[in-house]
Amino acid sequence: MENRLRIYNTLTRKVETFVPNVDGKVGMYTCGPTVYHFAHIGNLRSYLMEDVLEKTLRYLGYDVKRVMNITDVGHLSDDADAGEDKMLKGAKREKKTVMEIAAFYTDAFFEDCKKLCIKRPDVVEPATNCIADFIRIVEGLLEKGFAYCAGSNVYFDTSKLKEYFVLTNHSEEELLVGVRDDVEADPNKRNKNDFVLWFTRSKFEDQALKWDSPWGVGYPGWHIECSGISMKHLGERLDIHCGGVDNIFPHHTNEIAQSEAYLGHKWCNYWMHVHHLNDKAGKMSKSRGEFLTVSLLEQKGYDPMVYRLFCLQSHYRKPLEFSFEVLDQAAAAYAKLKKRIASLCAAGSVEEEAFARYRRRFEDALCSDLNTSSALTVLYDVLKADISDATKRALVESFEQVLSLRLLQADKARESAQDEEKSTWILEQIEKRAQAKKNKDFALADAIRSELLEKGVRIKDTREGTVWELI
Ligand code: AMP
Ligand code: ZN
Repeated sequence: MENRLRIYNTLTRKVETFVPNVDGKVGMYTCGPTVYHFAHIGNLRSYLMEDVLEKTLRYLGYDVKRVMNITDVGHLSDDADAGEDKMLKGAKREKKTVMEIAAFYTDAFFEDCKKLCIKRPDVVEPATNCIADFIRIVEGLLEKGFAYCAGSNVYFDTSKLKEYFVLTNHSEEELLVGVRDDVEADPNKRNKNDFVLWFTRSKFEDQALKWDSPWGVGYPGWHIECSGISMKHLGERLDIHCGGVDNIFPHHTNEIAQSEAYLGHKWCNYWMHVHHLNDKAGKMSKSRGEFLTVSLLEQKGYDPMVYRLFCLQSHYRKPLEFSFEVLDQAAAAYAKLKKRIASLCAAGSVEEEAFARYRRRFEDALCSDLNTSSALTVLYDVLKADISDATKRALVESFEQVLSLRLLQADKARESAQDEEKSTWILEQIEKRAQAKKNKDFALADAIRSELLEKGVRIKDTREGTVWELI
């Protein structure tokens, strides 16, 4: 099929034409949530824009298989293998078990996604389901000489790679400057950028979830999860991998290092990263105490769709600053848009040429590095255009496959309420007619039948009673 999507690839630092490994088929991997707390609306910006990417690919006709992990073990409170396991931290905070915390926040995450019309990926895999897969990769890396055991942990040896910083412009020196004082250097590491593939009991005595392994009882490092889960469900060659920009280093850099060292060939061709949602104080994060969730927006009276529109109005590669003033503007725009769409008349026919022309323009906007604000402009142009209401409605319905703004939903609810009202009225008329016949008032009975016919309802007297149909 024709590959029309152009997308920025973090790996090459260029906007490129997206060409999957197998024609027409796309393997897509998304780093999922660490389920120790609610997702904030910043996290959800990333998932929302990844949802737009998935839906765009489907809209263009690709057969997409999307996989997402659930991090329920191994993600430490610092990305540099330091600090406490985030899951354990959550369990302590709420005096629950780690598995209870994982189940609760996994459900909460998908509830939030549902509210924002983010489609559930085809495969959702908790890391704790795949321990054997991770162990196999770590064994392979040890065999090939890319890993070493030290202080009862297994580490990836970054000095064995030809190039480690494939996703960023970091040089060794730059990174030295970036090393934070509060992160204790791990004396077991041979090189500063080496990272843990497998932790053993030596790391945390109170680690709740542990598994037997060739290196002792322990648990996997965070990065190995995504490599393992992706390979398990999408094979050795991945088309596109997504995440927030904060995942570029070290998480995705380490994923590439270990996956390619293990496989012996290139692993993933395209890397898509969504920029951060910031507030006035900077990047929205869970460690900053109070954070904004979808439920909080709802409590303040916002329809979650307003947040979706707010995100679609800007480009995924630009930082987005959140404020309630800007959200209010999105709320007003959303209400206006829905009102305009609700006023479209359902009758009439679709003008095929106009439909195809606007659909193509909508696709072109998305194919231009997912330019969602241009795609919204096409929607506004459709509503203003000199084409039939039926064509407009058909286009809105079509665009909704990607936008997912529930633009036609109120309409549908109103239609079904109208349907219900109509059938109640019909049944009342049938009852009145039966009474008239009983009273031998045939003139009234006939008048009721005629009125029903005029309104498009045909009635028929059967042995079981009077039935009706719409004509
Ligand atoms: P976490 O649950 O912390 O592992 O993060 C889940 C996803 O949200 C990752 O892809 C992060 O890169 C992304 N993320 C974290 N903070 C933000 C933010 N403020 N804005 C956008 N995405 C974010
Ligand atoms: Zn990941």
